[in-house]
Amino acid sequence: MSRVLVLNSGSSSVKYRLLSGDERLASGTVERIGEDSSPVPDHEAALKVVAAELADRGLGLDSSELTAIGHRVVHGGKTFTEPTLITDEVIRKIEELVPLAPLHNPANLTGIEVARRLRPDLPQVAVFDTAFHSTISPAAATYAIDREVAERLSIRRYGFHGTSHAYVSREAARAVDRPLGNVIVLHLGNGASASAVSAGRCVDTSMGMTPLEGLVMGTRSGDLDPAIVLYLGRTGGMSLEEIDVLLNRRGGMLGLCGDNDMRAVQERLAAGDPDAELAFSVYCHRLRKYVGAYYAVLGTVDVIAFTGGVGENSPLVRETALAGLEALGIAVDPVRNRRGDRLISPDDAAVKVAVIPTDEELEIARQTLEVISRTNRG
Ligand code: AMP
Repeated sequence: MSRVLVLNSGSSSVKYRLLSGDERLASGTVERIGEDSSPVPDHEAALKVVAAELADRGLGLDSSELTAIGHRVVHGGKTFTEPTLITDEVIRKIEELVPLAPLHNPANLTGIEVARRLRPDLPQVAVFDTAFHSTISPAAATYAIDREVAERLSIRRYGFHGTSHAYVSREAARAVDRPLGNVIVLHLGNGASASAVSAGRCVDTSMGMTPLEGLVMGTRSGDLDPAIVLYLGRTGGMSLEEIDVLLNRRGGMLGLCGDNDMRAVQERLAAGDPDAELAFSVYCHRLRKYVGAYYAVLGTVDVIAFTGGVGENSPLVRETALAGLEALGIAVDPVRNRRGDRLISPDDAAVKVAVIPTDEELEIARQTLEVISRTNRG
C-alpha cells in the first residue's frame, strides 16, 4: 500500500498526516512557529519536529515505504487547475502567484522547499485550494470592472477550500446514493465558503479573488459594498493595512459580537445576548441567500451538504439557515438534525440535506497518488 505524507504549511503552523491508502498512520500539528518564546523558530525547524515525531513512531521520513509527499498550496491562480508534480519550474510559478496570496503561498512554498531538501529523491505534489473551482464559467468568474485592468492584474474569482468542496460534493452524492447530481456545499469553519457543483464540476463558489468574499466567517466580513473600503480610507482615515485587518482579521463574527467561535456565540445567544443574536442572524441570513442563489444557478438541487467545524457541529445553524424553504423542497428534520444523523432531511423531501465531515488531508493524499500514478504511466 502506498504511503503518502500530507503537509499543510500555514503561516504559523504545520499540519501533517501520514496515510497508507486511506488509513491514517500518524498525524499532528506543529504550532506557534516563529512566535516569541516558541521552541520552533521557523518552518525548517517545524518540519524537523514533524520528522522527529514520525521517527519516534517508527515511521521516519527516511522510510523507503514513503511514496510521495502531498502539499496543500492555497493559490494556484490561472496557472494551476489540477494537482501538479513539483519541479523547479512549478516552484517558480507558485512564487509568481505570491502577490495573489501574500500570507499563504510563501508558507506553503517554505514547506515544499524544506521537504524537498529532506527527501530530494521523493516525488512531491502540490494540491491547490483554487483548482476545483477552475471550472466555474466566465460569467461566474468575472468581476464587472474594466477588462484591461482585470486582465493585467489577474483579477477574477478563483475560490478557495476547493479540496474540501471536491471531497464533500463527491461524498454527499454517495451518502444519498445518487449519481453525481447537483450539490450545494456549505463549508462552514473558521473560514467559510459555499459552492454549487454539477456532475462533479464546480459551477460557482462564494470566495473570490481572495478568501474575503462571500459568507460571514469567524473573522472575515464576507460580502460588503466595495465602496465601504473607499469610505474607510477617505472619511475614516484608515490606511490600507488597517482596512485589511478590519475586514480579514477583526471582521465577521468577531467584529459583530467579539467572539469568532460559533460555540461561544451560541452560548451567548441562548443567554439572550443581543450582540450575539445580531451576529448569528447576519451569519444565517447570508448563508440562506447563498443557498437561494446557488439553487437558481443550478436550476435543480439534489443535495445540500454541510461541512466544516460549524457545518458539522451546529444543528442550530443548519436549521436556522434552511428554515422556511419548504416551497423549494428544502426541509430539515429536527430530530435527525439534533441527533447528528448524516442525512437530516425528512424522507419525502425533494432536496436531501446531509452532514458530511470534510477530510482535506485524505483528499490531498488521494490526489497526490493520482498524480504519481499518472506520471508513472505517462
Ligand atoms: P474549522 O475551521 O472547520 O476547524 O471550524 C472551526 C470552527 O467550528 C470553530 O471556530 C467553531 O466556531 C466551530 N465549531 C466547532 N465545534 C462546534 C460546535 N459544537 N458548535 C458550533 N460551532 C462549532
